[in-house]
Amino acid sequence: MSNKQIDWSNLGFGYIQTDKRYVSNYKDGAWDEGGLTEDANIVLNECAGVLQYAQTIFEGLKAYRTEDGHIVTFRPDLNAQRMVDSAKRLQMPPFPVERFVEAVEQVVAANADFVPPYGSGATMYLRPYMFGSNPVIGVKPASEYQFRIFATPVGPYFKGGAKPITIRVCDYDRAAPHGTGHIKAGLNYAMSLYAIVDAHEQGYDENMYLDSATRTKVEETGGANFIFITKDGKLVTPKSDTILPSITRRSLCHVAKEYLGMEVEEREVYLSELGDFAECGLCGTAAVISPVGKVVDHGKEICFPSGMDEMGPITKKLYDTLTGIQMGRIEAPEGWIHVIK
Ligand SMILES: *Cc1c(COP(=O)(O)O)cnc(C)c1O
Repeated sequence: MSNKQIDWSNLGFGYIQTDKRYVSNYKDGAWDEGGLTEDANIVLNECAGVLQYAQTIFEGLKAYRTEDGHIVTFRPDLNAQRMVDSAKRLQMPPFPVERFVEAVEQVVAANADFVPPYGSGATMYLRPYMFGSNPVIGVKPASEYQFRIFATPVGPYFKGGAKPITIRVCDYDRAAPHGTGHIKAGLNYAMSLYAIVDAHEQGYDENMYLDSATRTKVEETGGANFIFITKDGKLVTPKSDTILPSITRRSLCHVAKEYLGMEVEEREVYLSELGDFAECGLCGTAAVISPVGKVVDHGKEICFPSGMDEMGPITKKLYDTLTGIQMGRIEAPEGWIHVIK
């Protein structure tokens, strides 16, 4: 398949097999030199550590075309570093940061035909991941691992504009104090599936998870961090050791401060104060920001003044500035845009 044969504007967020993926194996205490392969399948022993005890971590980032025609990725070094942190917490051998970035470059360059055109809204999603590959039956870390990155083109996250979503306060927890909520582990997603299917059945788009110790503070959703805008135009984002440190959220905080002159506060956010905010958004690589119009707490509706029709005005400014930086329309801070070709 080449660039021309994909209908970019009608792509969804699903897996489409591309030509090449990167593989490196860890054995006898070292990563091999790694390289690209055309084989999209993995053959594993029935007792592989990942299949028995879920020893697996992942990352997610995008490659896309900028206004001036380059193919770039956004802050891949931060994905690399976060994967090192995730690996350490699950007793896995970290894949070196520089090698991660090189592997991203190789996968993107090898699948350049699948990088959607500028302005289509579509992007090429990259999925780095690592898992325990040798047989493990007694509970312990694997001794062999595989690191891979594949690429799959994905459509515009919002077809026809970003409509505010409705989320509910969830009775299930996503992360415990001193647990694994701050790393990008597959296990955090496995245990959120019941809650998200249930939320959808009840008519909600997402779950708002609270801190599991007191159930009074806002944490995040299954896969995105919160930002709130106060009535006097300040950005507030929850601070907690059990939130996944979103690169999008960290970038938005920088944009708010340095580009828009806003005050930024990272602090504990109580469920009881949600009604005081003017705007709310969810941030992550996939959508950048999804506006939240309403939070439902066991029948009690908390409606943000920005409403259910469009993104709040400050959220929109943040969204436009960050996506402008990503797409090369606005000058980026040093090191944010990683040019591949
Ligand atoms: C990946 C992820 C995010 C978003 O992080 P980005 O780096 O912005 O893509 C937020 N929360 C959770 C739980 C995640 O796994």
